[in-house]
Amino acid sequence: MAPRLERFVSPGKGNGLRATASIRRGELVYSTEPLACCVSNRLARDVCHHCFTRRETLLRCSHCKMARYCNISCQKQAWSGHKRECKCLRSLLPRIPTDSVRLAARLIFALLSTSKGSSEELYTLEEHESHLSSMPEQKKQGLSQLASMLDLYLQQEVLGLAQEMTSALPPSCQEPLSLIAKVTCNCFTISDGELQEIGVGLYPSLSLLNHDCRPNCVMVFEGTKLQLRAVRDINPEEELTISYIETLSLTEDRRRQLEDQYHFMCHCQHCDSQDKDELMLSGDEASWSLLKEALPRLEGQKAESDWQALLESCSHLLSTIGANVPDDNLYKLRITDVALDASIHLGLWEEAVKYGERTLPVYRQYYPDPHPVHGVQLMRIGKLQHYLERIEDALDTFKQAYQIIKLTHGDSHPLTTDLLMKMEECRAEMDQQSSIARRHLSRTP
Ligand SMILES: [Zn+2]
Ligand SMILES: [Zn+2]
Ligand SMILES: [Zn+2]
Repeated sequence: MAPRLERFVSPGKGNGLRATASIRRGELVYSTEPLACCVSNRLARDVCHHCFTRRETLLRCSHCKMARYCNISCQKQAWSGHKRECKCLRSLLPRIPTDSVRLAARLIFALLSTSKGSSEELYTLEEHESHLSSMPEQKKQGLSQLASMLDLYLQQEVLGLAQEMTSALPPSCQEPLSLIAKVTCNCFTISDGELQEIGVGLYPSLSLLNHDCRPNCVMVFEGTKLQLRAVRDINPEEELTISYIETLSLTEDRRRQLEDQYHFMCHCQHCDSQDKDELMLSGDEASWSLLKEALPRLEGQKAESDWQALLESCSHLLSTIGANVPDDNLYKLRITDVALDASIHLGLWEEAVKYGERTLPVYRQYYPDPHPVHGVQLMRIGKLQHYLERIEDALDTFKQAYQIIKLTHGDSHPLTTDLLMKMEECRAEMDQQSSIARRHLSRTP
């Protein structure tokens, strides 16, 4: 595939990427494996550290007892990247360093191994922003702690490393603080088909992508491979953008999050026009502010997996104060979504589908372009309808999901294949039902 993108200087934003030709909605713009990646600590026992597949049973590395693999083949392929890491992990046991420290170490090992040159990258690590000079003191202190952790973590390997690093790495990557700052500012969260976060990775060329709250591209992962797809038609020389954050929130909140995490003030069209803010705050303020105030408490119950109490709180809020607030209201939507999650965890499918179906028209309004979050929500609801034997509704919901997923994930992504299979199942079940009905009718005199 000829390169569809090139590096350029985006007015007011610094470096960026733009299209070199017209790109149609749904087309794959770029696909790449990470320079370095690692499974999050939180999921270290549930996901293969090589291919990032989630499995019930995984083989454990007998040395560090941390890394886990689908099978011998995944373990073998992972060994060149894991060998030095394994020693470092063992030296700190039972302590496990944070994700960014493990990622930074894996990056160093990747840069030092000759097979993983970054020559074809559009953006070298040397050029990556660390934002250290403009960073608030408190954040810098946090990073300094991570940098000392990195030092400690690498100690086992460092005697050999120090020399190797001086000769092989650019100066800004030898200094732990600057390296950690670059890693935390530029790493991507790797998520699975259901959009659950499973790890972090560095994809240097794609660090050039600038943010827009209504972007023209989305990133989707297949294992550790990152795929960038267009969600709108893009003209030659038009800048390619993604969203760094979940966009379903108020302009003020998006701007604050972007400033805190990425150190810039968003002036995208969506922010400057405060488009959708009014809709998100629709209804009587005295009522929805009570819903807003309840959210932190609900989040707490969710974090503790107290599903029963969580569902009770949500259902109480929604049937009392929430009954007077329109479904479009952002806080009502969030509570309805939490109620959906809680019902699923409790196996209350009828409740779940009731809450889920209420969110769908609202999602449609807030995601005018194809968006993975919207597609996955439709798929979840479709599965509930299917389980409850509402086959026609399920097929209809799956079809809507497919209209989105085929564009955001492409036709060969496992999520798309899974969805097509579900649609096939629904059709087969409907055929079976109608043939039973026909037989029944023909027997009636
Ligand atoms: Zn695997
Ligand atoms: Zn190991
Ligand atoms: Zn914006």
